[in-house]
Amino acid sequence: MYEDIKNYVETNKKATLIAVSKTKPAEAIEAMYRKGQKRFGENRVQELIEKYEILPKDIEWHLIGSLQKNKVKYIAPFITMIHSCDGLSLAQIISKEALKNNRRIKVLLQVKIADEETKQGYEISDLMADLENGEITTLPGIEICGLMGMASFVDDKAQIAHEFRTLKGIFEDVKKQFFSNQESFKELSMGMSGDYEIALDEGATMVRIGSALFGAR
Ligand SMILES: *Cc1c(COP(=O)(O)O)cnc(C)c1O
Repeated sequence: MYEDIKNYVETNKKATLIAVSKTKPAEAIEAMYRKGQKRFGENRVQELIEKYEILPKDIEWHLIGSLQKNKVKYIAPFITMIHSCDGLSLAQIISKEALKNNRRIKVLLQVKIADEETKQGYEISDLMADLENGEITTLPGIEICGLMGMASFVDDKAQIAHEFRTLKGIFEDVKKQFFSNQESFKELSMGMSGDYEIALDEGATMVRIGSALFGAR
């Protein structure tokens, strides 16, 4: 299962696989690590820290869930990428904590594309306002590497494809308007177990896959 998905995502589609290991024990992560997987995603800071401490130090950890400002300091020393930055004040704190650790942390700006109340992320108008204001793009401790989004949890593949296509359009606009001379703005993190094939067809460069790799939670 792991090899099939890894091959499909990375060899066939030239995208990056983030194995979402939330709620799964360290042993399950280590088993996949031994098969060659180096990038794992977690959504809770406490759980992430516990796993970070006992697992191999060359694992790249990706924070994919909503992040409370007062918890940034716990992950700032080691986190590879934060996919869920959805406001200027959070970006400022990530930058500050990164600098305290003499690091620059890669972040993605999470955009709300789903037609559901519960999804986190920037409203598109707020995203554009923060980018136009400009402060977020000049924070010294972060490197904005792209956008992240989650489609609605629906069976309608056309709706999911439409939402991913919308995000890809926003990505292209934002890149052109605000990051045209920054090669590092190149990642589009979209697609989970149920919709990663659609996301890859719509231009995802990173997919975040949990249950299809590790089994149901
Ligand atoms: C849990 C989670 C995933 C992975 O979900 P699966 O359906 O298990 O693949 C991806 N992205 C985010 C933000 C998540 O919270």
